[in-house]
Amino acid sequence: MKLKVVNPATGEVAATLACDDAKSVKSKYLQARAAQPGWARTPLKNRLEAIRRFRERVVDETEKLARVLTTEVGKPISQSRNELKGLLPRIDFFLAETAKTLRPEKVSVDVAGSMEERISHEPLGVVANISAWNYPWFVGANVFVPALLAGNTVLYKPSEFASMTGLEIARLLHQSGVPEDVFVALIGAGEVGAALLKQPVDGVFFTGSYGTGRRIAEAVRGRMVKLQLELGGKDPVYVCEDVDIAKAAAGIADGAFYNTGQSCCSVERIYVNEKVFKPFVDAFVAEVKGLRRGDPTDDQTYIGPLTRAPHLKVLESQVKDARRKGAKVLTGGERVKAKGNWFEPTVLVEVSHAMDVMRDETFGPLIGVMPVKGDAEAVKLMNDTEYGLTAGVYTNDRKRAERILAQLNSGSVYWNCCDRVSPRLPWSGVGNSGIGLTLSTYGIETFTRPKAWHLRGA
Ligand code: NAD
Repeated sequence: MKLKVVNPATGEVAATLACDDAKSVKSKYLQARAAQPGWARTPLKNRLEAIRRFRERVVDETEKLARVLTTEVGKPISQSRNELKGLLPRIDFFLAETAKTLRPEKVSVDVAGSMEERISHEPLGVVANISAWNYPWFVGANVFVPALLAGNTVLYKPSEFASMTGLEIARLLHQSGVPEDVFVALIGAGEVGAALLKQPVDGVFFTGSYGTGRRIAEAVRGRMVKLQLELGGKDPVYVCEDVDIAKAAAGIADGAFYNTGQSCCSVERIYVNEKVFKPFVDAFVAEVKGLRRGDPTDDQTYIGPLTRAPHLKVLESQVKDARRKGAKVLTGGERVKAKGNWFEPTVLVEVSHAMDVMRDETFGPLIGVMPVKGDAEAVKLMNDTEYGLTAGVYTNDRKRAERILAQLNSGSVYWNCCDRVSPRLPWSGVGNSGIGLTLSTYGIETFTRPKAWHLRGA
């Protein structure tokens, strides 16, 4: 089987890759299983050293890796470079925190002093890392870096839309001293992911859509295996009447349209206090009209193509549904008639929660803006979703912001910012945004199993 890599900006075939099949998946699993005890016994300082070398290689090859990413996912080149640069502080966090986090803890000694209680952090074993294409370096590394550091072997299935990047990740890790049977890439589409889940792995760490996440949960049902699902969102922001309108409009336009709106934490719904609805919408539409769409290899491009051609239909259908139910298109609204997967950056008003565009993940350059009477209505509408990845509020009043943020059912909350991820904070979701977490020290522990030691002296 072969996998065709199609450049989303041009529709041309950029590469043809050999795919895995059920037989090769099984043999790769057996390799990773056999290698795991040896990797777990390798001193942590050697594992840290390998990841440090991997970081250096990413720095040395940034330009080449950015071009590979832009070719296969259509990400504007400046944003591909940003992803690679943004990877470095994440790796630095794991390098700095893993030894401390995984150090065995002595938790109590009894009065007589003859009983010691200790917790150690054991690797899970062999873990499956099934990944998405939209930020393949970020979402991949959030899993495979701490998983490897904690002593697991990793079967890494990059998205079929980011497989060249997946192979680059494997090459750089192997060149950095991670053995080939400790980090193993599996190439192919969903059926290769499904074949991987048939193997008796010890952990499944998935990043992708809610629909696939549900299928994965069903595939591992009944098995005693750790499961993490990092899924989609329908992330809202609320703009209060006291803000600097121009600044808020610029920040939220970036949060909604960066990566061509294809981020799990892209802003997907905007609620604006009715007192400033008109000036905010005017400023926001002006920002969106100013976003430069074009050749993703051009340094100045901000909006690229959609990565997946079938997704054009999803955006068209959300616009059609909204229009039919009374929405007004202020800019955009159509696919662009050109080779490749292009859609105009689009802003809708007169939207409601009866419309798909305000309920289903959009994952593209399309957003609805809705007026609200005040904080209570904003909170109610922001929480009116099956998802719960991030949510934000823009106001000059910190107390008011914290009061609002405390009421939001969301894994991450933001004041005067959005579309932001920090290596120091846990990344997790509520509801259909998933279960489990990555990043922060919890995102190191999650690749381990706590083992309880009861040690009585003679
Ligand atoms: P997707 O669900 O289509 O695919 C994700 C991965 O699952 C791919 O590697 C795919 O080959 C694999 N897969 C598909 N069917 C499978 C099956 N039956 N068994 C096993 N594996 C299978 O998602 P996508 O289009 O790659 O990514 C976009 C989605 O990911 C969006 O919903 C986005 O919000 C979400 N996402 C979430 C986060 C987060 O941190 N929460 C981060 C990035 C992306």
